[in-house]
Amino acid sequence: MAFIKINKQNFYHNLNQIALKTGSVEKIAIVLKDNAYGHGLILMARLASEFGIHHAVVRNMAEAEQIKAFFQTILVLGDRIIQDEVCSFAINTLDDIKEADKGAKVELKVDTGMHRNGIALDELDMALDLIKAQGLDLVGVMTHYRAADELSSELFWQQKQFETVKHKVLKSGFSGLRFHSHNSAAILRSKSFDEELLRVGIGAYGYNELPVPFDKTVLKPVMSLYAKKVSTRVLKEGERIGYGGDFITPSSMTVSTYDLGYGDGWCRGDSRQPYMTSEGLAILGRVSMDFIALESEKEEVCVMNDAQAAAKQFATISYEVTTSLSDSIPKQLV
Ligand SMILES: *Cc1c(COP(=O)(O)O)cnc(C)c1O
Repeated sequence: MAFIKINKQNFYHNLNQIALKTGSVEKIAIVLKDNAYGHGLILMARLASEFGIHHAVVRNMAEAEQIKAFFQTILVLGDRIIQDEVCSFAINTLDDIKEADKGAKVELKVDTGMHRNGIALDELDMALDLIKAQGLDLVGVMTHYRAADELSSELFWQQKQFETVKHKVLKSGFSGLRFHSHNSAAILRSKSFDEELLRVGIGAYGYNELPVPFDKTVLKPVMSLYAKKVSTRVLKEGERIGYGGDFITPSSMTVSTYDLGYGDGWCRGDSRQPYMTSEGLAILGRVSMDFIALESEKEEVCVMNDAQAAAKQFATISYEVTTSLSDSIPKQLV
């Protein structure tokens, strides 16, 4: 079966670079949603915890349950709000507050301009009153940036909005809160960091998705994807490979089938613009559900060791390439 190597040294390198930005490991919350961006939820939780990270962010309670033993706090971004020792829950709408269990730990998400989730600025007072009335334990206030990765002043505009939110919340008598707004792009371009927490995802996995080099932080890909040989054949000139016979051998070729396909979450792509593996081999013809063809006889090939480079070939972003990979691909720690 295809497999993924997880490079612990690279992961720790990235976390160290990020800790330099936040000033301490204590302030890092590792975002582990969607199977740790395809890297393996439990494995990455364990590695992050061994590095000294005490905080995590996930999408739902099912993910949180699997990694509870590793962290002091886990922020659940989108699930029913219940009372829990370790987990706090993002409030995305006013209804979330009304439906929450009394005593639950919550973090108020404020919509400062992305317009995806969160309480509108003019609903803030109402939200804070409701939180009190409902007997919820407000432990944090957060926002998310829509354009931290773009060369514009939008980030600063949203940061200003969030400052106003902070003042309002503190004036309403809440204390001991953690305020957090930064994702990977925001921390990578920030010169100073004065919040209580950073929610870092893609950067920890080794990708700097800023379109222009705002800063010189070198991150290293944590994941590399391998496929194993299934069979080999020698083909004469003019033979056609795979569904539709899209690839026609220009001369006699030794071709092997490898056990990776779109069923594993690998992008099917376009056979007219074949994907080049990190070893420089072109995928020959169409990607099948479980197989690809390569001109190689090696037992194992590295299909991808840099999801950002792969993403360029597929006209997408590193997030999609790694997150799409199936949970069931075995992970090997190196
Ligand atoms: C996914 C997510 C992050 C992490 O973003 P990266 O760009 O991967 O660092 C942070 N905050 C929220 C609310 C998210 O949904």
